[in-house]
Amino acid sequence: MTQQRYDRQRRFAPIGDEGQQRIEAATVLVIGVGALGSVAAEVLARAGVGRLRIVDRDTVEWSNLQRQSLYTEADAREGLAKVHAAAARLGEINSEIRIEPIAADVTAANIEGLFAGVDLVVDGTDNFDIRMLINDVALETGTPWVHGGCLGASGQVFLFDPGRTICFRCLVPSVPDPTSVATCDQAGVLGSATHVVASLQANEALKYLAAGAAAATPKIQTLDLWEGRFRSLDPSDLRSGECRACDLGHRDFLHRRGGVTEPVVLCGRNAVQLPPPAEDRVLDLSAMSRLWEGLGETQVNRFLARLQIDPTRSITLFRDGRAVINGTEDAAEAKTLYARFVGS
Ligand SMILES: [Zn+2]
Repeated sequence: MTQQRYDRQRRFAPIGDEGQQRIEAATVLVIGVGALGSVAAEVLARAGVGRLRIVDRDTVEWSNLQRQSLYTEADAREGLAKVHAAAARLGEINSEIRIEPIAADVTAANIEGLFAGVDLVVDGTDNFDIRMLINDVALETGTPWVHGGCLGASGQVFLFDPGRTICFRCLVPSVPDPTSVATCDQAGVLGSATHVVASLQANEALKYLAAGAAAATPKIQTLDLWEGRFRSLDPSDLRSGECRACDLGHRDFLHRRGGVTEPVVLCGRNAVQLPPPAEDRVLDLSAMSRLWEGLGETQVNRFLARLQIDPTRSITLFRDGRAVINGTEDAAEAKTLYARFVGS
């Protein structure tokens, strides 16, 4: 059965029988099974990656169905955890591989455990904070990871390989000010674009697993589907020799665990307070309220900006990036809303 299942992939000479065996022996961690992670996970499951560990903190929502092709209306109606809906579907697609669903928020406290025994990581996240954390652990453990990002009809993909390529912080030295980078909830995103980006990520993963580091694309691949533009950028131009993470060895995001960086559930107030980001910043609250146009009623003054997301939930954002999410006592849900409506 297996012989037939992977026949077309084995016949592709750069993979062949040996490459296929390496794919089947591999363990891949997919962090986030949203628009990018769910599609990449499906491609990897169909290709026969022996063990897929999938992690996500969210449940399936109706607004996901436009692009997250693993999920159905029934999943959204039942509000299933994404990892459980994904594991069920991936199990139907390929019952010969092992799927490990983990419903969790990825933090500095648990990310090293998630990396244990993993050959490669796929970035299916939507925020810079977690990518910085992935980058720290990848450097620490020498694990390659495939970054993907998508917004509107544009996206980019690159396989970061510790010791061989630049790292994510060479590219993005610090978490960008959220008023300078829109989120998908603010600017929208096309399912056609997320599928292309996720497919390129799965492609980089399979090349690396089947044929080794030399097979990985050495350039950053960028695309704008609406304009029909595909480009490759040489990342070696971005090497400064002074990157805090890969050159100087700091693991700022991994070592930030505990302390004031954790969300605080404000019991009795049906709210969660999220701490300010690690880096000092002063947000332009008027700029943020402009990004919220059309998303709900907004209010802004010198000290705070507030967005009423729906009748029960609101975000109050302060100038240092701290926020209070009203309408939930679930820290994971609060972080998801922050990532969606503020960014990171
Ligand atoms: Zn670096």
